[in-house]
Amino acid sequence: MSHAPPRPSRNAPPVRVNLYSDTQTRPTPAMKAAMMAAETGDEQAGLDPTVDALCDRMAALLGTEAALFLPSGTMCNRVALLTHCRPGDGVLAHETAHILSAEGGGAAALGGVQIMPLPGARGQFDVATLEAALLPRSRYAVPQTLLAVEQTSNLGGGAVWPAARLREIAAWAHAHGMATHMDGARLLNAVVASGVPAAEMAAGYDSVWLDFTKGLGAPLGAVLCGPAAFIDRAWVWKQRLGGGLRQAGLCAAACLYALDHHVARLAEDHANAAALARALAQVEGITVESPETNLVFFDTSGTGLRAADLAARLRERGVLISATGEWRARACTHLDVDRAQVDLAAAMVRDSVAGRR
Ligand SMILES: *Cc1c(COP(=O)(O)O)cnc(C)c1O
Repeated sequence: MSHAPPRPSRNAPPVRVNLYSDTQTRPTPAMKAAMMAAETGDEQAGLDPTVDALCDRMAALLGTEAALFLPSGTMCNRVALLTHCRPGDGVLAHETAHILSAEGGGAAALGGVQIMPLPGARGQFDVATLEAALLPRSRYAVPQTLLAVEQTSNLGGGAVWPAARLREIAAWAHAHGMATHMDGARLLNAVVASGVPAAEMAAGYDSVWLDFTKGLGAPLGAVLCGPAAFIDRAWVWKQRLGGGLRQAGLCAAACLYALDHHVARLAEDHANAAALARALAQVEGITVESPETNLVFFDTSGTGLRAADLAARLRERGVLISATGEWRARACTHLDVDRAQVDLAAAMVRDSVAGRR
């Protein structure tokens, strides 16, 4: 997957619709005002009241004892894996997992941890797949000490794990002596789409985190949640990695603002994604993966245009999408995209594909 939007030609129009990623949202004026009004202190010393308020709120939301404010979701995954695992340990995760595909090999580079990829449709797997991947405990085998899931699964198409399946595989992991970790970068998208409360989704997971820089629209910040003893140990890794902050309340205030104002509206992003999927399905040669949340993946092979070529043509028309494979593209709805922009983007996809013929 490409991690930067296509480079525009010199005379390309300004971006009119940014479906590249939900990370592209800008803080709203009201969010900035909340940031400017924040009470702050030295976060590293445990003296920032706004960070404390955010951590308390997140622990309550996810039903855990404690929480830890970190600059990014990647650092949540890093700190969690380093806290759960020792060098040489194996982590069971889906083959498309962010920890495997998009973190610069951080689990291996910093933790000596190997991620053991599991197959399965839509970024998910089941107990039968886990049984097939289970190694015996022996002096020869990799000690499998952690099971990791992604809710929603990003490269799995923004699919929502059913809560019952999550509980079932967590119980399986615990029965086999493994800890459980949930990468909840878009957990609240799953919560809004399914109506299942966040704490219920996270039940059975020894660590779980939420990103504030995806659909929630904050400029930075993610919160890792778990039992108090786990968070105490995670603090050591936060400090070691240089993630101890100072007047971070400025950023925590944006996250608190997002919890108050940007959660229920995720339903609009999901409705816009559904509308986009319906419109794209009308374009000859495009096959759409039915969206469950705010991510719309589609196959371009029937158009003869590779995903990156379609993305480049769309860029020339002021629309950004991402190419996630040779023939697979992703369009992502978010806070800064409304229905009219979705309709415009679909029309531009039609034009770009027609221009090919
Ligand atoms: C974006 C993302 C991350 C990383 O979060 P950052 O805040 O960008 O570091 C991790 N996991 C998933 C599933 C993501 O989509």
